[in-house]
Amino acid sequence: MTQTTETEIPTSRHAPIVIAGGGLVGMTLAIALAAERLDVVVVEAVPFDITTAPEFDGRVSAISASSVRLFRALGLWDDLAPHAQPINDILVSDGRPGEAPSPMTLHFDPRALNIDGQPVEPLGHLIENRHMRQALIEATQQLPHIKIMAPASVTGIDQGAASVAVMIRDQPPIQAELVIAADGKQSPLRKAAGIRTIGWNYKQSAIVTTVEHEMPHHGMAHELFLPSGPFAILPMVGNRSSIVWTETGDLAPRFMKLPDADFAHELTRRFGAHWGRVAPVGPRWCYPLGLQLARGYVLPRLALIGDAAHAIHPIAGQGFNLGLRDVAALAQVLIEGARLGRDLGDVHLLKTYERWRRADNVTLAAATDGLVRLFSTDLAPVRLMRDMGLGLVAQIAPLKNLFMRHAMGDVGAKPKLLDGLPV
Ligand SMILES: Cc1cc2nc3c(=O)[nH]c(=O)nc-3n(C[C@H](O)[C@H](O)[C@H](O)COP(=O)(O)OP(=O)(O)OC[C@H]3O[C@@H](n4cnc5c(N)ncnc54)[C@H](O)[C@@H]3O)c2cc1C
Repeated sequence: MTQTTETEIPTSRHAPIVIAGGGLVGMTLAIALAAERLDVVVVEAVPFDITTAPEFDGRVSAISASSVRLFRALGLWDDLAPHAQPINDILVSDGRPGEAPSPMTLHFDPRALNIDGQPVEPLGHLIENRHMRQALIEATQQLPHIKIMAPASVTGIDQGAASVAVMIRDQPPIQAELVIAADGKQSPLRKAAGIRTIGWNYKQSAIVTTVEHEMPHHGMAHELFLPSGPFAILPMVGNRSSIVWTETGDLAPRFMKLPDADFAHELTRRFGAHWGRVAPVGPRWCYPLGLQLARGYVLPRLALIGDAAHAIHPIAGQGFNLGLRDVAALAQVLIEGARLGRDLGDVHLLKTYERWRRADNVTLAAATDGLVRLFSTDLAPVRLMRDMGLGLVAQIAPLKNLFMRHAMGDVGAKPKLLDGLPV
């Protein structure tokens, strides 16, 4: 007879957990659960050779220090580290295209948090989404408790008392104990379950591209607030930076269609000359921006995570980090629940996850919404006030350090994975 140790979960008592959506959040959750021997089926609509192709997703994600600890705890960091550019400091300033930034700048340097002389973690790392997708796919292939169905689309669910039938297009349904919607902002599963959302469209789009520059960036990220919205310069491995250029919804399509030379000219006017000559390399992508919050994250046998639960403006580079915090909390609730032999679809158990995550997600959504409104206007009094605000925060060390701790993901009660510990 096979013996199980105290911490091993008797998976045979549990029907599988189905995760709808094999994006960054869904795949990370699958790994966290399968590492603790819970059986997971990931259903992803788009084939992986498409989602990992360089032209599929040009984004580079800022990953907070606590997200790095989670990747370490899941054994993913060794594969990600060669692609990760540490963020050593962040410069925030106000400006206009073609002009020097305002002298009122805010400089976040994590060395300021170093009270006891210990080595300081960087503020975060920047990693290309395609490298994260590749590492996640490879990790799932090593875990026998994960089954992947891709391409396959979840079309809805049929709730039963003891299980949920997950409907898959052109395939038989899967009986599961719990289904998790990690199917992104448009979440077909959230809609099928009738969970409503609140939110609004910012009438802005983010143009994303990569540039090469003559001089090294030394790990400095620069957030420049221009009249049409933030223009972020995010350091990548090598003399490269990722650009997240926010434009009004009507102008963004025009910039997207500009011939290469004109696009390079417009980009350089905004980028400035601090790192020498700058040249866009590779494709351009455009993402419409809005805020969307689900009114609830759980129903019996259903939980929402990642963008399916909350999609926010990328101004602070926190959307995926929030998704990873959902992963850490939900994984801990389910793994501990399984150890106690609980029904993983029990709404009382799932509510523990909702209570843990909702306030943090709503707080960050509200903070980013405030920043977007404050920094996406060219009204002279507002510009003056925000310049003074930047100057003031720069002078008040505790306030500045609090902002830095948020950027590093180190505020609030943390699930174990975010401390780099196994569940
Ligand atoms: C311009 C921009 C820059 C950003 N920068 C940052 C940053 O620096 N740092 C950060 O933390 N966050 C950032 N974000 C946010 C981050 O990209 C998202 O929060 C994150 O990608 C959400 O991941 P997800 O897995 O929840 O959703 P998604 O990436 O949308 O994945 C959902 C998956 O579900 C699949 N799917 C959909 N419907 C179905 C179905 N019916 N059946 C099966 N599968 C389905 C989709 O194919 C997809 O693979 C940025 C966002 C934008 C727009």
